[in-house]
Amino acid sequence: MFKFLREKFKSFLKKSSEEVIKESEKKEIQKTVERKEVIEKKVEEKEGVKQEQAVEREGFFKRLTKKFVTIKLDEQLFDRIWAPLEIILFENNVALPVVESVRSNLKTELISHELKKDELEKIIRDSLKKAVMDLLVEPFNLVDVIKEGIKKEGRPYVILFFGINGSGKTTTIAKIAHLLQKNNLKPVLAAADTFRAASIEQLQKHGSKLGVTVIKQDYGADPAAVTYDAIQYAKAHMIDIVLVDTAGRMHTQANLMREMEKINRVAKPDLRIFIGESIAGNDVVEQAKNFNNSVGIDAVVLTKADVDEKGGAALSVGHVTKKPVLLLGVGQEYRDLETFDKQKIIKQLGLE
Ligand code: GDP
Repeated sequence: MFKFLREKFKSFLKKSSEEVIKESEKKEIQKTVERKEVIEKKVEEKEGVKQEQAVEREGFFKRLTKKFVTIKLDEQLFDRIWAPLEIILFENNVALPVVESVRSNLKTELISHELKKDELEKIIRDSLKKAVMDLLVEPFNLVDVIKEGIKKEGRPYVILFFGINGSGKTTTIAKIAHLLQKNNLKPVLAAADTFRAASIEQLQKHGSKLGVTVIKQDYGADPAAVTYDAIQYAKAHMIDIVLVDTAGRMHTQANLMREMEKINRVAKPDLRIFIGESIAGNDVVEQAKNFNNSVGIDAVVLTKADVDEKGGAALSVGHVTKKPVLLLGVGQEYRDLETFDKQKIIKQLGLE
């Protein structure tokens, strides 16, 4: 898929720049011919000013040579460049408002400036790269931030995880616990999804595999109380981090958000992470927006990036929430967690 996209972008950029140059040259030639005719007519009419006209003609041709070296894109030429690009972005699951932002950024970069013709392809590519890069907040290193937080504020560092059922939340929490262990940090898991049948057992299973304690109560218990217990446990046992698994769905959206707000108040988390599926298209953008507006999120982890490698979800969720995408889930094993890299998206799109 990557290769296909890269080739598509490359061939598009080459073709498109050549076409635009041709079109602009056609326009220039047309203008030149018209201007030349006007001058010649004037010269014929006024023999006395021949000399002056000759000078004007010379200056004009100088300007013209310069014009053949550079190009200025107008709206029409810009649209010719943009049309196929837009299709490629949509094909890659980039959400509409994000595509609009790329367009506007790119337009600012390209339109009404003198652009060197022989570098047009590179200029479009660089501008597009910048337009995409500008959409995303620079991610931070999760482990470093946790270590710094503990140094400043003491143990435990508390992370709340939000996301709807099936998005890969439990698996991702386990993957993060594994990552922390590898970095000599000791986590505890809080089974604060007391609503969904089997969610506590599911977390417990991961806890047993990883050798991480899971703090739990019965189904139907107050999730804020489970979170509180886990924090108390961490304080008593020199645990570095509390990872809180919250419910993904309740009777109503309002109930869910009220419960999340309560956990938020009790836990006073250091970090709130939204977990979403990269394959969920526009749904994941909506979910991220909802969680961000109601409880507030600080960062994003996208799962199942191994199933959908297009990168559109990362661009869309990152841009819509204005929060950094930190990690990508790339499989079902604990090690299948990758640091998100803005440059990678650029590479995927064949812009490097
Ligand atoms: P939850 O309901 O949000 O807690 O979701 P789970 O953690 O139970 O995950 C749902 C399914 O997605 C499980 O079968 C996981 O193995 C799978 N899953 C989670 N993350 C990834 C990932 O990054 N890639 C793939 N391919 N599958 C994943």
